[in-house]
Amino acid sequence: MSQHKTDILIIGLGLAGITAAITAAKSGKKITILTKTKNKSSGSTPWAQGGVVYKGLKDSSLQLKKDILKAGAGHCWEDAVEHLCKYGPGLVEEILINTLKIPFNSNELGLERVAEGAHSTPRVLYHADKTGKSIHDIALKYLENIKNVEILTNHMAIDLLTFSHHSTETTDIYKKPACFGAMVLNNETGAVVSMLASKTILATGGIGQLFLHTTNPKEATGDGIAMAWRAGARCFNLHYIQFHPTALYHPSGRFLISEAMRGEGAKLINNQGEEFMNQYHKDGALAPRDVVSRSIHKEMLKEETDCVFLDIADKDSAWTKQRFPTIYDYCLSKGIDITKESIPVVPAAHYSCGGVGVNLVGKTSLKRLYAIGEIACTGVHGANRLASTSLLECLVWGYFAGKDSVEEKDDADYFPPMHDWSLGTQEVDKARIAQEWLTIKNTMWNLAGLIRSQDKLRSATNILRLLQSDVEQFYQRSELDNNILSLRNGAQAALAIISSALEDRESLGTHYVEGE
Ligand SMILES: Cc1cc2nc3c(=O)[nH]c(=O)nc-3n(C[C@H](O)[C@H](O)[C@H](O)COP(=O)(O)OP(=O)(O)OC[C@H]3O[C@@H](n4cnc5c(N)ncnc54)[C@H](O)[C@@H]3O)c2cc1C
Repeated sequence: MSQHKTDILIIGLGLAGITAAITAAKSGKKITILTKTKNKSSGSTPWAQGGVVYKGLKDSSLQLKKDILKAGAGHCWEDAVEHLCKYGPGLVEEILINTLKIPFNSNELGLERVAEGAHSTPRVLYHADKTGKSIHDIALKYLENIKNVEILTNHMAIDLLTFSHHSTETTDIYKKPACFGAMVLNNETGAVVSMLASKTILATGGIGQLFLHTTNPKEATGDGIAMAWRAGARCFNLHYIQFHPTALYHPSGRFLISEAMRGEGAKLINNQGEEFMNQYHKDGALAPRDVVSRSIHKEMLKEETDCVFLDIADKDSAWTKQRFPTIYDYCLSKGIDITKESIPVVPAAHYSCGGVGVNLVGKTSLKRLYAIGEIACTGVHGANRLASTSLLECLVWGYFAGKDSVEEKDDADYFPPMHDWSLGTQEVDKARIAQEWLTIKNTMWNLAGLIRSQDKLRSATNILRLLQSDVEQFYQRSELDNNILSLRNGAQAALAIISSALEDRESLGTHYVEGE
């Protein structure tokens, strides 16, 4: 197997990975950054419609901290929240405003700020309804011009290299688990390369694709969780998964329909045309996000339907097109004119609050391994996430991990001899992969999704343990490609989430348990 040596290996080309790369590159060291997709525009970052937290005109770190702690249902790590509030606004200024010059919306008084749900003051910067895409496009261009950064597309990390799993030495120099790079599939050539790195940074994004319905892109298959789990890095709060109440229900996939639409008076109706939210909560369609998501789920089960409907057709059509241009265009491209007809919607897995446990600079429990962005559990989000804090978290932890990775020495230039690695030769059976994904997605949705119980979670464990064991054998025999590797990771990450959910019998934040 060929080897590729770099100083800092970053796995993931979203905002977290890019921020770490830009920061670490200032040291002059060699930075290698991977994405498993052919396209550089990948991950959830380009899909972020809303915005990024900055600071309001009458705001303070303390006020932001209070809002985050409240949203997190008392389950946040206070030091991490303070770190975000202390450094976040300054890094937005330094990186997004001054360096990248993101064209945030502004007026004659300066940058415009909006107040999103549960924020006590307007403090969120945005660029139309495409904030994430603007940030990602511009940040990528900036990164492409840095000489010591190598961007490898269509390169998928398979597993982290650790002394305990891959070295032929019987005692490692650290006397505790450490990571020295990753095994990577070059999907263009089919070759597997061991990428040796002094420091490795996981920035692989979310887990939404483990569920039947999700707002996340195709690549969000929980790869980072699975790799970290197999390598023995500690994970936390994996069961705190935020569901968005309304995603477009369409055969081509889901698309987020902003909560602002309900704020503007759109009605939630069932297949009989009846408004149903008042039966579930006194605030009707404006009840908290979790309540609306669960109520829609219950209504779908009661009516035995695949979706409910969001209706804004009684508003003036010119106003709707101007207020929701992206949603209007997207729905129209799928044959739905939202000014004339109601939109089929379902709740959808949206954001993972937990992940690989890290400290304030993104270090994990494995030496020489960092985790940043949605894959990490920094402790900021606790049991639930305050809107628009995730891009900010990518920026803060991306910056500090990038800086620490080039500064901290930690015997990071030592690479042990490795075991041989043999590859399977069987062709990947696509029908089999499709079948296993359906099982994972349905199991997670019905038994480990919006409404959980010990009984359902135990049943999900039984189903997925069997599946994982089959998939692992299938993986050992197969010629490798992104599909089989993503499936292997999906099965592992799903089991990790369920085991975390089983251990927590208390309903809190996004984790809702019934019975016992
Ligand atoms: C529809 C939507 C709307 C959102 N709106 C907002 C918002 O308004 N404000 C906000 O703050 N947050 C929002 N979020 C959340 C936010 O966008 C994400 O949490 C954030 O962008 C995650 O960034 P990241 O860098 O951690 O990962 P991502 O941007 O998801 O990038 C992950 C990268 O890892 C790569 N990758 C994955 N596995 C592998 C592997 N095995 N090998 C190699 N590469 C791999 C992917 O290809 C990708 O490049 C939204 C999310 C969605 C889905």
